[in-house]
Amino acid sequence: MAGMSHDFRKLRLDRVSRSFGLHNALRDVSLEVARGEFIALLGPSGCGKSTALNCLAGLLPLTGGGIWLDEKRIDPLKPEERGFGMVFQNYALFPHMSAEKNVGFGLRMQGRPKAEIDDKVAKAMALVRLGEQKHKLPGQLSGGQQQRVAIARAIVIEPPLVLMDEPLSNLDAKLRLEMRAEIRRIHNLVGSTTIYVTHDQDEALSLADRIVVMRDGSVRQVGRPDELYARPAHADIAEFMGYRNLLSLAISSIANGTAEVGIEQGILQGSLLGAAKPGDTAIVAIRPDDLTPRSNGPIRATVNSAEYRGRDFYGIATTAQGLELFFRSEHKVSAGEQLTLGADPARVLVYPGEARPAAS
Ligand code: ATP
Repeated sequence: MAGMSHDFRKLRLDRVSRSFGLHNALRDVSLEVARGEFIALLGPSGCGKSTALNCLAGLLPLTGGGIWLDEKRIDPLKPEERGFGMVFQNYALFPHMSAEKNVGFGLRMQGRPKAEIDDKVAKAMALVRLGEQKHKLPGQLSGGQQQRVAIARAIVIEPPLVLMDEPLSNLDAKLRLEMRAEIRRIHNLVGSTTIYVTHDQDEALSLADRIVVMRDGSVRQVGRPDELYARPAHADIAEFMGYRNLLSLAISSIANGTAEVGIEQGILQGSLLGAAKPGDTAIVAIRPDDLTPRSNGPIRATVNSAEYRGRDFYGIATTAQGLELFFRSEHKVSAGEQLTLGADPARVLVYPGEARPAAS
């Protein structure tokens, strides 16, 4: 059965829900994806990313809402009728078939003529740079090569959508970086539309055109990587995006989108993200990278520990009242040293009326 056309304009999830008994793994997820986009679904373990992908693939029925490809409702269709390409964490290759037989499997199932299959398989194998390895069995290939076979198998059917579920998590760090670049290169070359599940913010930031941050089965924020990096909409998203310092502080004054918050003896300035008035409490989020020792920095703290990371030192310091802070220093710092820490106001995000996110 041939899949749907490559040539759609937009994929639309309309209040998609999926529950398992009383547990809502997905709640009212709405999202539009344009053809050609690379979308990352990002979130902590258990937030519903894989459930969303499986609902898209047709492996899990919805318990609410609908999925549309342009004007066609596709959620009632079987997986093979959707014809999406899937790449999983565990590759899911057939162990008894050579690499090229694995790649050609979908085309053979579609009953395509042999000449067409040979041609498309050869092109897909070349695209993932595996032409030389085509006769090998999966067991004779490295993890990265197997993952390439899985990608070739997904794209050879020219699917309208390629769905990837943590496809790099079984690879070592070096190979992960290489394959990340490969996946983006192939996406651009093929002009496919990709939805990619990951819990790794670096992966999402480097690969995606847009990132969908999920938590507890809901979409928390959708944005470009630079937006999510610099301006997470809420403190819990900030935490997930690497803002390790989350401090509950009182706002002392507000002017032109900048808030001043009192931190023990000092005053820290930051960008106000929400409506507030002086006296309100807020969560103040700062990345360790942006909190650095400086003369007249507003935060007095004592270094607990610091470690050398090649270029800089990263450390933990504690204020007089026991606030623990993660900071970076270009100069060597040692335990017991007194620092005055500060951060550029544009890099300090102030979320009024929010509670500190529960540990996830
Ligand atoms: P991970 O990164 O750990 O894979 P995830 O974000 O992909 O997590 P899901 O696998 O989508 O999360 O799971 C979302 C929630 O739904 C979890 O609480 C999970 O326990 C639950 N869940 C998933 N599949 C089932 C199932 N078949 N039966 C019952 N509960 C399920």
